[in-house]
Amino acid sequence: EGKDRGKGTAVRYEPEMRTRLVETAEMGARLRDAIDDGELRVVYQPIVRIDDGRIMGAEALVRWVRPDGTMVPPGEFIPVAERTGLVVPLGSWVLREACREAAGWVDTYGPDAPVSMNVNVAGRQLQEPGFVDEVADALACAGLFAGRLTLEITETAALEGPEVMRTLHELRALGVRLALDDFGTAASSLGLLLTCPVTSLKLDRSFVEGITTVTRQKAVATAVVQIAQALDLDVVAEGVESPEQADLLRGLGYRRAQGFLYHRPQAPEQLAAVFRQAATSRRDPVVTS
Ligand code: C2E
Ligand code: MG
Ligand code: MG
Ligand code: MG
Repeated sequence: EGKDRGKGTAVRYEPEMRTRLVETAEMGARLRDAIDDGELRVVYQPIVRIDDGRIMGAEALVRWVRPDGTMVPPGEFIPVAERTGLVVPLGSWVLREACREAAGWVDTYGPDAPVSMNVNVAGRQLQEPGFVDEVADALACAGLFAGRLTLEITETAALEGPEVMRTLHELRALGVRLALDDFGTAASSLGLLLTCPVTSLKLDRSFVEGITTVTRQKAVATAVVQIAQALDLDVVAEGVESPEQADLLRGLGYRRAQGFLYHRPQAPEQLAAVFRQAATSRRDPVVTS
């Protein structure tokens, strides 16, 4: 507790801190084994065009399936992976898997394949000196065009320092696209949009949740789409669960969305059916953007 941290006194060691440290250490050890033992999976959640439901891209989301079949949600193990540094090898693995999967879609569906594969990247990964080379290598190994990869970063990670900012510029120079994830939730400055070479914003789910009833959430969603349009950035609304939310977002100018209303995250083997169904139910002809 901060108030006990006076000059010359040691930080008081609270029992909860101990529990948390032990939990982190234990889960960290189990997660390390999980990576080695192949217990991680990647699922993919389509990102659609609101107008007609066309699948424009997908976000790769990691899953940890324990041998007994129980699933540890990423909300539990990603923070541990970040604290222990395991997010670096974990993230490398997800990146390679996702690039391989996206290249497979291009092979299978040709021009109908979703344009973008979105991969979450932790701040720790961006701080690794070899990260740009690693991305270039993952693309080359998979045979994926750089413009088909979007790395999702958080505002906090982007603000880490000049080295990270340089890395982001190098990634853009490779042709990779960059999205600011959970946009609006971090305590960041809008000036970030002028220095950070992002190509899209993802409106955080927390603003979409009450958008049809809470005036203030609607106001934020409105401001975000206006900023995106003014700066010529793509914008995706996250966590869309109802047709009412989708209609309202479309009215505000949002063209892309991701959420349970459209598709849940799916295993690669389930996605073939999703793509087939989306292709046949599409109302208008193929448009690429
Ligand atoms: P995120 O990047 O913001 O991903 C979107 C999260 O929202 C996913 O949760 C997704 O399943 C969930 N979601 C999508 N649509 C809806 C909806 O309509 N309603 C609700 N209630 N939820 C929806 P998930 O898969 O549990 O992932 C949670 C977070 O874990 C991600 O948030 C991301 O920050 C992190 N994460 C997941 N995979 C990775 C990864 O490979 N690397 C890193 N560094 N972080 C990851
Ligand atoms: Mg994300
Ligand atoms: Mg997000
Ligand atoms: Mg999120």
